[in-house]
Amino acid sequence: MKPIRFIRTRLSIRSVRQILARMATVAMRYEMSSESFANILQSFIELTNRYRVKPTFPVPATVVQRHPRQFQKIEEAGVELAVHGYRHVEYTQLETSQIQMHYKQAVQTFHDVGLHINGFRFPFLRRNTETLHALGQSGFIWDSSDALYWPVLDSEHIHPQQWKSYLNILNSYQAQSIQDDLSLPRTAYGLIEIPVAIPDDDILFERLKLPPTKVRHIWIQMLEDVRHRGEMLVLQLHPERFPIFKNVLDSILKKARHDGNCWIASLGEIAQWWQERSAFSCDINKVAHGRYKVNFDCSDRGQPMVRSVSPEGIGQWFSVAKQITIKSVKKPVVGISSRSPENLKKFLADEQIIFEITDDSKRTNLYLDWKGAFRSRDKRELINQINGCAKPLIRMGRWPDPYEYCLSITGDIDGLDFWDYWNRFYG
Ligand SMILES: [Zn+2]
Repeated sequence: MKPIRFIRTRLSIRSVRQILARMATVAMRYEMSSESFANILQSFIELTNRYRVKPTFPVPATVVQRHPRQFQKIEEAGVELAVHGYRHVEYTQLETSQIQMHYKQAVQTFHDVGLHINGFRFPFLRRNTETLHALGQSGFIWDSSDALYWPVLDSEHIHPQQWKSYLNILNSYQAQSIQDDLSLPRTAYGLIEIPVAIPDDDILFERLKLPPTKVRHIWIQMLEDVRHRGEMLVLQLHPERFPIFKNVLDSILKKARHDGNCWIASLGEIAQWWQERSAFSCDINKVAHGRYKVNFDCSDRGQPMVRSVSPEGIGQWFSVAKQITIKSVKKPVVGISSRSPENLKKFLADEQIIFEITDDSKRTNLYLDWKGAFRSRDKRELINQINGCAKPLIRMGRWPDPYEYCLSITGDIDGLDFWDYWNRFYG
């Protein structure tokens, strides 16, 4: 990358003041040695192990190269590692051949020291079609760089300068609102994309200067939201801030475990589940007038579901057996017109809401003839339409039986000591 372009890019993401302030904070927090960070990581892992939770820590390969034994110990202690670039650079600024070389060298570096990886997170969450396309061709199974934000912050209570910095970072992450999009894994570029939740510890604590008590309140609110929607919260807590957020993380994990129906999984486990689930299918046959026989073909973790209306008149998805008979005059699936956009069909396939492509609008219990483009921000509206249907529909559940929503704990380790951070700034 050309030096001027490199510096300009850095400046567009963070101001020099912020970078220098962060380096000073990191230096103070780590006391200039990887030994104290090792203690922080050990406490983090002790807490997650206590809740039988495997966190996912993406790390740049050059940092692994400097501290191989540390990362072997971290993995042995119960952490899932992932690649956070070969170096901590902005991949959208590199040529395709350089990007491919970085991916290859990163995988080699982790493998050379016996570490297991199959996932990636882009530094600064900066990615584009080209970087993702190359990533999908490099043998990675999952990526976790899409950002979804929850509108849980109120600009009135935040300093205008800090609010502006928050909006800038949302823009730089190309973050989508949870009001429009769904917080779920999705398949794209031959990868399983697992979006991270915003605001994270970096935004709430470093940028907006909110105290841990307030952060706890915000994250619990986000967890409640995904519980209500049956979706996923990929919570980012950078391990370097664990001493500040230890009690907050403890509260989140306690609440999720207490609920009993929250699947707490690593990003790799989520990706593996999404792959397993994508092979599920079902057979639907009309056996008599107003009766359909449905055979679900899925693993024991699969949750076949039927949408029906409760005696109180509320539509709900219910778990059912693998073989069932449904009373329904029309076919209990979503009908999609052949002219509906391809990505809408792909979205429903990812969601495993059973649909068929037909131009007969009277054949199915719900019929969608989507005109125009189907954008990320239309997903919530589509799901609301489907969930508004008062007649039976079928689908596979989003999470392994018996879970109803999902939580994952993740945080990038950009470096273990001051020199890793210095190298990171230098790129
Ligand atoms: Zn990073």
